[in-house]
Amino acid sequence: MRKKTVLITGGAGFIGSHMCEKLLNNNYAVICLDNFITSSEENIKALFRYKDFRFELRNVSNHIGIPGKIDYVLHCASLASPEDYLDFPIQTLKVGSLGTHNALGLAKNKKAVFLLFSTSEIYGDPLVHPQKESYWGNVNPVGVRGCYDESKRFAEAITMAYQRVHKLDTKIVRIFNTYGPKMRHNDGRVVPNFILCAISNKPLTVYGKGQQTRSFCYIDDLLEGLLRLMLSKINQPVNLGNPDELTIMQLAKLVLKITRSKSKIVYRQLPVDDPRQRQPDISKAHKLLSWKPAFCLQEGLERTIAWFKG
Ligand code: UDP
Repeated sequence: MRKKTVLITGGAGFIGSHMCEKLLNNNYAVICLDNFITSSEENIKALFRYKDFRFELRNVSNHIGIPGKIDYVLHCASLASPEDYLDFPIQTLKVGSLGTHNALGLAKNKKAVFLLFSTSEIYGDPLVHPQKESYWGNVNPVGVRGCYDESKRFAEAITMAYQRVHKLDTKIVRIFNTYGPKMRHNDGRVVPNFILCAISNKPLTVYGKGQQTRSFCYIDDLLEGLLRLMLSKINQPVNLGNPDELTIMQLAKLVLKITRSKSKIVYRQLPVDDPRQRQPDISKAHKLLSWKPAFCLQEGLERTIAWFKG
């Protein structure tokens, strides 16, 4: 029997490359597209041993023409780290808008199921806590984070338009802070930053007073939720993340404890429009996908630290 084929944009990034591997291990053929703007060949090197893995160097903000049958299109391509989207705001807006349009067009052409990788950033600096899918968000469209937040909000809107107009089977996942092996050393996000500083005895840089909160999900948990959503009949947005919320200061102390590091904590300016609190309400995913995270933060961090040390 023919294997189902999944095309994944941004398949060489942190989440994308893990997803490629998860799909290959679940007996799917995978076509991975990436332009390596913030990802690397290193992430997918080990996947070439699977005979059903194919890679194409592409910028998906340009038209995507791929011959043959495709059953699922996963649009994961994005510049997801605040440092990256501050450096590349136009590419961020293009991949969220033009890239999503192209990926939707491909899915329509192939009669494929479409899954958009969206983000908790669509809630902006949330005034409702924890964040449920029914919350519309509090986003500054002209602020420095607007390029990311608004591109993803546009991506969600055009995905819903394709569902309504073209009857495309679409799904939207709103991914909350996720961490794990394969995050870039210079990614700029808090987990790799803190781990790298702690293991090299450099000071951990806490932005602001460290009282802002986040809720961190280990990559393996996210992947399981993504696969369940891809195979589900759900056509409305679903949050995936770990509801275990803590302050950035608590995270810094936990990383220091696990690594037994002697690093100090230093304070840096809080980035503009940095959300003050974030916690997913995952009751929808729990009810409809029977999904909830299995890894606690301590265990996920231990695994991630081991990978960074290696
Ligand atoms: N942060 C920090 N030190 C760092 C990197 C980030 O204190 O070295 C803070 C940042 O201001 C934010 C939180 O950690 O409040 C999470 O930042 P990240 O860049 O990981 O992702 P975000 O959730 O903001 O998209």
